[in-house]
Amino acid sequence: MTERFDFLIIGSGLAGLNAALLAREYGSVCLLSKGAISETNTNRAQGGIAAAMAASDDPQRHAEDTIRAGDGLCDERAVQALTDEGPQAVRRLMQLGVEFDRGADGAPALAREGAHSEPRVLHAGGDRTGLHIQRALERCVRSGQIDLRERHTAVELIVEAGRCAGAVVADADGEPHTITATATLLATGGVGALYAQTTNPPTATADGLGLALRAGAVARDLEFVQFHPTALVGGDGSAFLVSEALRGEGALLLDRSGRRFAAEAHPDAELAPRSVVARAISEAMQRDDAEHVWLDISHRPAEFLRERFPGVYAGCLERGHDLTAGPIPVAPAAHYHMGGIWTDLDGRTSIAGLFAAGEAATIGAHGANRVASNSLLEAAVFSTRAVRAAIAGVDGEPPTPPEPVSPLPVAGGNAAPSWAELRSAMSAGAGIARSADGLSEALERMRAWPASHSGDASLASASTAAQAIAHAASIRTETRGAHLRVDHPGTDPAWRRRLAWQIVRE
Ligand SMILES: Cc1cc2nc3c(=O)[nH]c(=O)nc-3n(C[C@H](O)[C@H](O)[C@H](O)COP(=O)(O)OP(=O)(O)OC[C@H]3O[C@@H](n4cnc5c(N)ncnc54)[C@H](O)[C@@H]3O)c2cc1C
Repeated sequence: MTERFDFLIIGSGLAGLNAALLAREYGSVCLLSKGAISETNTNRAQGGIAAAMAASDDPQRHAEDTIRAGDGLCDERAVQALTDEGPQAVRRLMQLGVEFDRGADGAPALAREGAHSEPRVLHAGGDRTGLHIQRALERCVRSGQIDLRERHTAVELIVEAGRCAGAVVADADGEPHTITATATLLATGGVGALYAQTTNPPTATADGLGLALRAGAVARDLEFVQFHPTALVGGDGSAFLVSEALRGEGALLLDRSGRRFAAEAHPDAELAPRSVVARAISEAMQRDDAEHVWLDISHRPAEFLRERFPGVYAGCLERGHDLTAGPIPVAPAAHYHMGGIWTDLDGRTSIAGLFAAGEAATIGAHGANRVASNSLLEAAVFSTRAVRAAIAGVDGEPPTPPEPVSPLPVAGGNAAPSWAELRSAMSAGAGIARSADGLSEALERMRAWPASHSGDASLASASTAAQAIAHAASIRTETRGAHLRVDHPGTDPAWRRRLAWQIVRE
């Protein structure tokens, strides 16, 4: 059966929901989510969304902070668009019904987080910002004019004569359907579930990246996977995120002997960029031969902590830790992908008719390392831009990235025999601390994966994405941003360039 829409939007996080709500004003919309509608990274976001809303702040300062954390690889035009259009994107969320927390003066309360020089992070429900955004936008989506399909997985993009014409979609029973569309948007989120320990939901298996690569699109910055420094790590691989907003409110990192160590790595200590803090924690764990370090905010009043961090407080308590009473055990976990499907500033990929936005895309706003609370903003700003570009027309030639594109030595065929094997290979070789030996071992394992997959289409997409990430990480022989090479510990100015990739078929 073939169905036809003006817009096919794949993903129901902030990028997909926001895009669908704008697109429905211009045509018919089909919105897919692989799991339940709210099984998204968006739903889990805690700290908030950054925008220069305060009178004392301005988008230029927000841009400077973003560029500083990006470790030399931010696209300044993308950062400028992100920060200039940030306040407007936040106001749109408010109009769609998101109720951000307010201060005594009635204005949105603004928190300060790691790498931001100003308090500019809006939050909702204390530390349940993502849940509030997801709920409000879902309510609008369900109010009509959007054909929502939950538990429908895009398994292949349809490309005809060089243009994307829609996707093959497996329904909840695994039955394939063809959905054609004038414009297709990949808003499929992140890659965390390619790793054994992640803060992401199980649906975050890099499908969009795998699908786009297999369809011939260009991907970029793939080696830059951010590991969140502070997650309560459970035995099942689900790591419960302990937001850096806690560190913003004075939480201290302590090693096994109760000694603070973050200041030895960076003058901003616990508030240094994520990669620096994650690296410092990983090194402290190695030094102490420990599974975790400690995070202590118990010096702040218990009532304040329960009110400001209700989600983290409850989540920790569920897992047997009371953060008001003493230090809690934390370790880094896979969290956010700076890289992804290459797009121009308007969400256009290198395939006509195919757009990407949110975490699945890489526009260049985060460079080698994302600043806290900029990713929700990116999803909001660039999904709006992508829909506007799609409305303006999909007939022209697709854009090309400014940097040279290298052929990716990934057949796009071989798939991991199981999720456990895929996650083990990625965590062992392409995890937080990488080396030539570890990466070539991982790539060797991946090359031995069978040419056909077990029938799990997400596993096929994820396998392509995993190989691409590991390959890119093996090529960048330096340490930059979130990419830590223990065999190349320094940042090399000659590597101040981006790596773009494309699968080339014979
Ligand atoms: C625990 C946690 C806390 C965070 N806290 C913050 C924060 O405070 N501030 C901030 O800015 N960022 C935060 N982030 C990051 C931020 O939440 C994400 O980057 C952002 O929400 C991504 O939105 P998205 O719409 O691109 O993707 P998502 O919200 O992840 O949505 C992806 C969607 O794609 C669907 N999908 C995937 N593959 C397919 C397929 N093949 N077919 C159909 N559908 C598919 C999924 O089902 C899902 O609906 C956090 C992330 C996590 C995990």
